[in-house]
Amino acid sequence: MTDIMMSRRSALLGMGAMAAAATAGLHTSAAFAKAPQLNTQVPFFYRFKNRAMQVTMDSDVPWPLGEPSGAFLRPTKDVNGKMLSDNFLSPTNVVLEQNAPVVNTGKNLVLFDTGMGTSKMFGPTTGRLQQSLKEAGIRPAQIDSLVISHAHIDHIGGMVDAKGKRLFPNATVYMSQADFDFWTDDKDPKKAKDFVVHARKNLLPYRDRIKFFKDGEEFLSGITAMSAPGHTIGHTVFMLSSEGKQLCFIGDLTHHQVLLVERPRIEFAYDTDPKQAVASRVKYLEMFAASRIPVIAYHFPWPGHGYLSKHGDGFRYHAAPMEIVTIPPKPEAPKATPAKKG
Ligand SMILES: [Zn+2]
Repeated sequence: MTDIMMSRRSALLGMGAMAAAATAGLHTSAAFAKAPQLNTQVPFFYRFKNRAMQVTMDSDVPWPLGEPSGAFLRPTKDVNGKMLSDNFLSPTNVVLEQNAPVVNTGKNLVLFDTGMGTSKMFGPTTGRLQQSLKEAGIRPAQIDSLVISHAHIDHIGGMVDAKGKRLFPNATVYMSQADFDFWTDDKDPKKAKDFVVHARKNLLPYRDRIKFFKDGEEFLSGITAMSAPGHTIGHTVFMLSSEGKQLCFIGDLTHHQVLLVERPRIEFAYDTDPKQAVASRVKYLEMFAASRIPVIAYHFPWPGHGYLSKHGDGFRYHAAPMEIVTIPPKPEAPKATPAKKG
């Protein structure tokens, strides 16, 4: 019998004795007491670096989109369901995260998108962003720039509180004029009314401090707008560049890491122009795969940081490992050599 087997055997015998003692109604050692199951969770923020930029992902927490055929318009319910179950995901409940990055560029503290805020339109779980920012040590008043990928409720809903007061009092808002004009216009009855109501509620209080970026414009140091229309007419993705390294925040270029990555030509029901959205999606996914540029995706599994590779007609998403400690550790700065005595 090896030492390991011996110690395992003794432990088992010991445990048997403890169980017997417990059965006999005897008190057991506190070390073996039953522990209550805890309901606390891992932090709702996660940090990583893109060279000199620090990225803090902050969660507004996920919401359920439900059975896929309501939102993913092709190929069929069965094919979508099988793609999900083949990837160990529920075929009857598609869940979308809400991963909002805060990027500290050294010059600016920039929040991208703001979650659902006080709206419970997509269920009761959402609206945690303010709490997540607080736990990450980020005060809303420190955010000097708020960048909006598009004006849908799950991206602009957290700009104001329930009374319509600005939650980011010192932020300049950067967004596309096309999305601002489209979603704050309440004259067109064909538009989803709830979306217009929430866009007006969240965007109009910032009207005097909104700046519209142009396609290709580096509107903040290291942050460039790249037009990706289709999901909405002004939907934009953002290239974050630091010391020659790029990282792209892709907003809602794709809503799902399997369905709209492996089959990027599936049309999504909530796109303003689904065919244009497919063209934007394929164009940028091709670019990320060819150039190996990492992405941050708003709706992908937490924290939404990873890579895309080409796979047949479509692509595959590869989540980047979460780095709790850098391995190998950074070398320590060399110690000062003592001056030689003469
Ligand atoms: Zn979205």
